[in-house]
Amino acid sequence: MRRKLVAGNWKMHGNRASNAALLAALKAAPAQDVVEVAVCAPFPYLSQLQDALAGSPIAWGAQNLSQHAQGAYTGEVSAGMVAEFGCRYAIVGHSERRALYGDSDAIVAEKFIAAQKAGVTPIFCLGETLAEREAGITLQVVGRQIDAVLHSAGVGALARAVIAYEPVWAIGTGRTATSAQAQEVHAALRDQIAGHDKGIAAAVRILYGGSVKRDNAAELFSMADVDGGLIGGASLVAEDFLAIVAAAAS
Ligand code: PEP
Repeated sequence: MRRKLVAGNWKMHGNRASNAALLAALKAAPAQDVVEVAVCAPFPYLSQLQDALAGSPIAWGAQNLSQHAQGAYTGEVSAGMVAEFGCRYAIVGHSERRALYGDSDAIVAEKFIAAQKAGVTPIFCLGETLAEREAGITLQVVGRQIDAVLHSAGVGALARAVIAYEPVWAIGTGRTATSAQAQEVHAALRDQIAGHDKGIAAAVRILYGGSVKRDNAAELFSMADVDGGLIGGASLVAEDFLAIVAAAAS
């Protein structure tokens, strides 16, 4: 039985005051044993998360990291640095990073490996664009994206990772994949992993992300291969995020 994970991705939002209010509201909610909860914040706020959440059941993480361990990479943040702030997770391969910052499949695989080397669990994002879905090549695209990690890191690495299927056309658009569309892709990803290792395929958590809201979360999370969600916009409002966590628990 896979424990569901609901992870918030704050993206480039928030400030110390709004973060403090949001974190206080999340901490005040009754802890959910059946669901793991995490929040991923911009780098400058990781120490705030560490201070606020240490000792609580809520985990925290970064939204990106460098593929390099150290060196002359001005402006970059390494996995080891992120680990020093107690991050359990780091998102790698978010579609915004892929589209806006040149994170190719190969770079994402390097970031995945760098995270694990530092003891940080990657939340590895993949997903197709609208054009790719309309061309009927969704499963080929996500298959290629996961292959990049399978080939570089090996299937064993997926035992220490979380996958997030995030169709690009659903992120921040208010347009959600139907539960059947999500299930189809999640099942295909699990099948592909099972081709390498059945046990790891059965155990790996595959989250859905893309306009998950309090009123569609329960339906998405009821699907057999949907193990929770990566939540953008709705993770910025405590009430909405907690309602999504509750949907995952039910
Ligand atoms: C995300 O940022 O990964 C995301 C899924 O955003 P939203 O929930 O706002 O679509």
